[in-house]
Amino acid sequence: MRARYESFFRRSLDEREAFWREQAELIHWEKPFDQVCDDSKLPFANWFVGGTTNLCYNSVDRHLAERADQPAIIWVSTEQEREEKITYRQLHEQVNALAAVLQEQGVVKGDRVLIYMPMIPEALVAMLACVRLGIIHSVVFGGFASHALASRIDDAKPKMVITADAGLRGGKAVNYKPLLKKGMNEAMADAPMVLTVNRGVATEAVEIPGELDYATEMAKHAGAVVDPVWVESSHPSYILYTSGTTGKPKGVQRDTGGHAVAMRASLKHIYGVEPGETMFSGSDIGWVVGHSYIVYAPLLTGATTIVYEGLPIRPDPGIWWRIVQDHKVNCLFTSPTAIRLLKKSGEEWIHKYDLSSMRSLFLAGEPLDKETHRWVMDALKCPVVDNYWQTETGWPILTNFMGLGLMELKHGSPSLPAYGYDVILVDEQTAQPVGPNQKGSLMIRPPLPPGCMTTVYGDDERFVSTYFSRFKEPLYATFDYAMYDEDGYYFIMGRDDDVINVAGHRMGTREVEEALCLHPAVAEAAAVGIKDEIKGQEIEAFVVLMANVEPPTTDELRQSVARELGPIAKPKYLHIVTSLPKTRSGKVIRRAIQSLAEGGDPGDLPTIEDATVLDQIRGAVKDRS
Ligand code: AMP
Repeated sequence: MRARYESFFRRSLDEREAFWREQAELIHWEKPFDQVCDDSKLPFANWFVGGTTNLCYNSVDRHLAERADQPAIIWVSTEQEREEKITYRQLHEQVNALAAVLQEQGVVKGDRVLIYMPMIPEALVAMLACVRLGIIHSVVFGGFASHALASRIDDAKPKMVITADAGLRGGKAVNYKPLLKKGMNEAMADAPMVLTVNRGVATEAVEIPGELDYATEMAKHAGAVVDPVWVESSHPSYILYTSGTTGKPKGVQRDTGGHAVAMRASLKHIYGVEPGETMFSGSDIGWVVGHSYIVYAPLLTGATTIVYEGLPIRPDPGIWWRIVQDHKVNCLFTSPTAIRLLKKSGEEWIHKYDLSSMRSLFLAGEPLDKETHRWVMDALKCPVVDNYWQTETGWPILTNFMGLGLMELKHGSPSLPAYGYDVILVDEQTAQPVGPNQKGSLMIRPPLPPGCMTTVYGDDERFVSTYFSRFKEPLYATFDYAMYDEDGYYFIMGRDDDVINVAGHRMGTREVEEALCLHPAVAEAAAVGIKDEIKGQEIEAFVVLMANVEPPTTDELRQSVARELGPIAKPKYLHIVTSLPKTRSGKVIRRAIQSLAEGGDPGDLPTIEDATVLDQIRGAVKDRS
């Protein structure tokens, strides 16, 4: 198997044009491309130049001839105790009707539509209806709150927001409309139109002027046929915001043609899922795993995708295994956090169900510890593949391959570079490649393969300065440290920037700090990530208050972060201190705070302004309960 991988991988780099020309045959091109890759303006790369295609046509219409009656989506909601199957034919009808609604409202190719929705089929219909018309969607995770929404509205300037009255989480309603209204009020951009799926589950109703009701509009356009708009391969299909070192989220922009090819090819070669099979990604459409492996890759393949609304342990920790059994899932994909949660509940839940359909479990989004890897592989008795990638790349950078042929799996390692990625590990100081068992910065030599981000939305300069300016040679920086062993297997050793990974969700420390500073009593704040047994990391914050203010409680400050950014960003611990450790030039030394918070030694800090502040941090951390 290793030899097969090596030749596939080598060919993807050494005979790049021929390799990707073959992969491109996996999708429909309305007009064939003239050039496989224009890399004359690196680090910008343009894939399949001159070709036109459509993401919705490839995900839906193309399958009607052979699989009109096959479920495209199986929706399972343990929140509403409902299951629903939507065939490719029905999906086609719904997507056409919604495309007609968008057309009627004057939303056209190149416009942006923000999608702020829970895990319901209408969310997928919304994404597909947008790309049918060349409209660029930007899905905002339903767990984000008003401030996060406002910053995305200001950046994307959407013409419309498609939302729902509420999501459901653990039996409780998450009312979207008040959050959306507050976000729209905070945003400086023109107010977008709002189209709402009224599920009848909200516990708090607010009016948004001019709001349209989804069911009413869909009924008006039932039976509509809207031709797909053929777009250039480079036409943006979507924007997905992600965190970095600044407080301003970056809009990761993806193209259409490269994205479609990459998705379809990855499901085949990496995940080993074929047309007609069933994939279940236990994630959310608000994250990149959701975009890629709940929506686009399965639908482009003509597979069935399970859309799950609910928690992995409710009504009991057997729920996912029951879904695998009932719907004969072939490939399950989730995060290490979800598996650690299930591990805590005991192995017996796994053995209650017939999991014979399941050929593999894929885990991504955060480091998979050896112990959890071993446990889940023993319990499931099927390959468990750790794969490493990022919102920016859209599909695995490092992985093992169910489709091409599984190679040895090593606990704690996401295996080897995926085809198309010219991965290079370099010394942080010298920029020279490092040898086996040495730590280095994980970089990728451009061009990035098809499907990866093509730029930061509206900001080419930021794309170059953020990702390609680390060294003299313009290499793409993943911001992760890694090493590889004698067999070439990689091990990820953590981020080298100020990004926290809570349960596979990426949060910028600056975002949390800025949210804290929105509270009128807060003068400055520092947020760090600390180790957590289940979630990988948790957020711990330290806050300095303004002089002469009524001091808020720490709980009030934590809640204020949840209100601004969403519950996932709420610090687990928060302490009020009188000052933060800073360098003489006034920069907060997060690294020192983090090592103290994790019970370590802050190391040598010769440039620190006032060393006594460290005692305060040490004391605060000791007293946390
Ligand atoms: P996101 O863009 O939110 O998916 O976060 C990407 C980041 O998550 C990466 O840069 C890594 O720091 C981390 N990550 C993702 N997958 C893995 C993995 N399999 N092992 C270790 N870290 C991972």
